Amino acid sequence: MKEMNVESFNLDHTKVAAPYIRLAGTSEGQHGDVIYKYDIRFCQPNKEHMDMPALHSIEHLMAENIRNHHDRVVDLSPMGCQTGFYLSVLNDDDKSGIEDVMEKTLNDVLEATEVPACNEVQCGWAASHSLEGAKEIARQMLEGRDSWSTVFA
Ligand SMILES: [Zn+2]
Repeated sequence: MKEMNVESFNLDHTKVAAPYIRLAGTSEGQHGDVIYKYDIRFCQPNKEHMDMPALHSIEHLMAENIRNHHDRVVDLSPMGCQTGFYLSVLNDDDKSGIEDVMEKTLNDVLEATEVPACNEVQCGWAASHSLEGAKEIARQMLEGRDSWSTVFA
């Protein structure tokens, strides 16, 4: 296959075994700071996906809570294929530490009583949410905790 600009377009999605956490790329600034971008894969590509309201709610919950466990989060965003998220952090190449941060964040999701910023002022589609769906996604991801470090089958 032709080498593409986008890192994940060069990943063979038929060879991965979700759930997993994978370092997808790095970007270094001129002063030596490095942004590490992690592929947090919740669902097996082309076999399963997250429904939009649940995906949207777990996005809000993780984006808000992960910053209580890590102080250099740049961004946490869902993939358009609805199978996972990208997490970008500054100067943190400790993948097992990132796994621990994700575990804590997903446990926060299980304990949540509401979706943060779930209103028309703070969100672009406030009607499309599911707290129960978000919790189900978190439960399934946590069930696979022992295999997060194994990317390929
Ligand atoms: Zn939103």
